[in-house]
Amino acid sequence: RVIRSDAEPYCFFSNEMNDEAQLRLGLEGDLRRALELNELSLYLQPQVDTRGRRVVGFEALLRWFHPTHGNIPPARFIPVAEDSGLILSIGEWVLEQAIIQMAKWRAEGLGEVSMAVNISPVQFQERHLPDKVARMLEVHDVPAAFLELELTESVLMKDAEAAVTLLNRLSDAGIKLAVDDFGTGYSSLAYLKQFRVDKLKLDQSFVRHMDTDFNDRVIARATINLGHSLGLKVIGEGVETRTQFEMLQREGCDVVQGYLFGRPMPVDEATELLRRAGPAPFLDTEGDPPQG
Ligand code: C2E
Ligand code: MG
Ligand code: MG
Ligand code: MG
Repeated sequence: RVIRSDAEPYCFFSNEMNDEAQLRLGLEGDLRRALELNELSLYLQPQVDTRGRRVVGFEALLRWFHPTHGNIPPARFIPVAEDSGLILSIGEWVLEQAIIQMAKWRAEGLGEVSMAVNISPVQFQERHLPDKVARMLEVHDVPAAFLELELTESVLMKDAEAAVTLLNRLSDAGIKLAVDDFGTGYSSLAYLKQFRVDKLKLDQSFVRHMDTDFNDRVIARATINLGHSLGLKVIGEGVETRTQFEMLQREGCDVVQGYLFGRPMPVDEATELLRRAGPAPFLDTEGDPPQG
């Protein structure tokens, strides 16, 4: 039990909370300041079409460089941001930064690429999300069709009715929708006919062993066929080897994303990549540390 003692104002919780909870609380405080202190940045990872290996888009991925802890991966801080509600302001910042970058590319004649932005289930509880996004696009004069919002299956399953309304409004505004980590969520396929999504992102867990695992290959093929039969595009995530790329290409996967074509990179590097015309080279990913 926590007994309130005015004599020891900072000790209420110290016996009650485990290290993990204290760490999270510390992270939450730091995260609250991270936006103002410019510690957050967007990295961009290229997406390449399987036919001509051209860069057709980027996924925006959040990075947090903490002054004392160094790089903190999103898997660590996104849940903290979600639990604290901070994800609302952070998510809005991410969207605006992504759209500003699209506007810059357009001004340079490099604007014919899509930008995918991850949206947290918490942001999907905000009724004003479609209006906010539409307004940002308008302010920066960016066509909605180049913006792609990535949502996970859990968003669609949580409150299906509210989700349908929200997704329809986004889709009406011309914004593209992609199902992230497809095949890993606790969901039924029935939602695919209810929601106007445009893309399936085949999860990297199916791609990782597809060179050696027959079942993964079958799942990849089935997902690609399912997507195409429903009129959706399919993008393979986590492509690291040439064999994986060639298999996905042979199965008719539309777009791929992974270390084979580029890690998430600072905006300037992404711009350089766009300026270089021609097929994206295969990068040697062997011996790379397991980090994004
Ligand atoms: P995600 O949206 O599924 O993003 C793909 C993750 O796979 C990224 O990890 C990326 O760096 C990593 N990845 C890409 N290619 C490869 C590859 O070839 N091999 C391997 N092993 N990994 C690859 P990251 O950047 O650490 O992000 C993790 C997750 O954090 C994301 O998964 C997404 O769910 C979340 N996240 C990142 N940025 C944001 C954001 O701005 N908002 C929200 N709500 N979530 C975000
Ligand atoms: Mg994603
Ligand atoms: Mg994913
Ligand atoms: Mg993920």
